[in-house]
Amino acid sequence: ADESAADYVAHLTRTVPDFPQPGVTFADLTPVFADPAGLRAIVKGLAEAVGAPATGEVDLVAGIDSRGFLLGSGVALMLGTGVLAVRKAGKLPPPVHSREYTLEYGNAALEIPATGIAFEGRRVLVIDDVLATGGTLCAAVDLLRSAGAEVVAAAVVVEIAQLRGRDLLGGVPLTALSLQ
Ligand code: AMP
Repeated sequence: ADESAADYVAHLTRTVPDFPQPGVTFADLTPVFADPAGLRAIVKGLAEAVGAPATGEVDLVAGIDSRGFLLGSGVALMLGTGVLAVRKAGKLPPPVHSREYTLEYGNAALEIPATGIAFEGRRVLVIDDVLATGGTLCAAVDLLRSAGAEVVAAAVVVEIAQLRGRDLLGGVPLTALSLQ
């Protein structure tokens, strides 16, 4: 029988204490992504965050730098949408929309193009691998909203529930395939 996405995450995730700094328990999903059935299960699970694929509820999938890119592309193909890379600062040519945020470890900014994509009225699903403090996902949601998009849902593979990142999302429904 097929294992669930949560089963693949439980069996294949490499959990690394004190990386990248003391006190952080890093959930390394690399082996899940590299496993054919594991990748299929998590991409399918994320796509189902907005109901059955091809319901037309979403018309753009936004993947967060950088593991969200790997997942977002697969989800977009399943949903029949395009994909957008929400990038770390300095990677995209100007003009950009930019939003600073605080990570579980350090500060950063996320950027999306300010020209070439019509965000107004676009219904977006935001994808990342891990929700920790929620700062990253919150910044991505704010960024997309400020550009005019409607963020209809967010989905992650792993939610570190005790950090309560979910509380920052301001009403955006969040699906997590696995709780840590
Ligand atoms: P946060 O903004 O604290 O929710 O952090 C989420 C972002 O940082 C995601 O893009 C994750 O890939 C990465 N991240 C933060 N904490 C962890 C962790 N404990 N394990 C794996 N990735 C993490």
